[in-house]
Amino acid sequence: MRNKVIAGNWKMNKILAEANQFTDDVVKKVPSNDNVESIICAPFPFLSSLVEKTKGTKVKIGAQNMHFEEKGAFTGEVSPVMLKDLGVTHVVIGHSERREHFAETDETVNKKAHAAFKHGLTPIVCVGETLEQREANETMKHIEKQVRKGLEGLSEEQVASTIVAYEPIWAIGTGKTASSEDANEVCTHIRNVIKDAASEDTAEKVVIQYGGSVKPANIDELLTQSDIDGALVGGASLEAESFLALVEAG
Ligand code: 13P
Repeated sequence: MRNKVIAGNWKMNKILAEANQFTDDVVKKVPSNDNVESIICAPFPFLSSLVEKTKGTKVKIGAQNMHFEEKGAFTGEVSPVMLKDLGVTHVVIGHSERREHFAETDETVNKKAHAAFKHGLTPIVCVGETLEQREANETMKHIEKQVRKGLEGLSEEQVASTIVAYEPIWAIGTGKTASSEDANEVCTHIRNVIKDAASEDTAEKVVIQYGGSVKPANIDELLTQSDIDGALVGGASLEAESFLALVEAG
């Protein structure tokens, strides 16, 4: 049985005091169910403080991006070594906003996935199609390419511990959720691609999240689907009560 993993992606929101307050509230009330993992993916400036606040608790702290190099002349970037040193456990890689605004490609996603594992971080690898691709019936082909290239060259063990987040771009921040059946169809496809690229055993271990307008009102239905093992949540992860309700559903 795969664990459920609920990750909040705050994107570029909050100031330090708000981030701290949120985390204090969540740590106090987070459900003790061992089958659910909760991760807060926060902006870089808050990571150190949030790691301190969650020490010894079930709540994990993730970053929203990183560079694939360990160090060097990359002004403005943050390395996997720095994240690991802080106590960060997860890192979001290849979010569609980064692909769109910061020129992330399947190639950089793959380099970052390798770098994450090299430094003991768990990558949350994001894939998803545009509305145009969905309407042109290109969703499955596009997702297959993103998954194959993103995970290329990883060992079976590394693939098995990767989290893949399926986030249809048209459902992000729009209030339009994919129907739970449509979301599951793509998540099943992702698992099948991994089965083919790695092995059945490995594919069965991979946690696949859905993301795109997930909220407390629709998470239950999404999580009843066979291949949806959790959620990557933007807007509805910004308030502690709402984030806790999502974790509770897991
Ligand atoms: P929303 O939940 O705000 O649609 O954002 C989804 C997302 O992009 C999470 O990474």
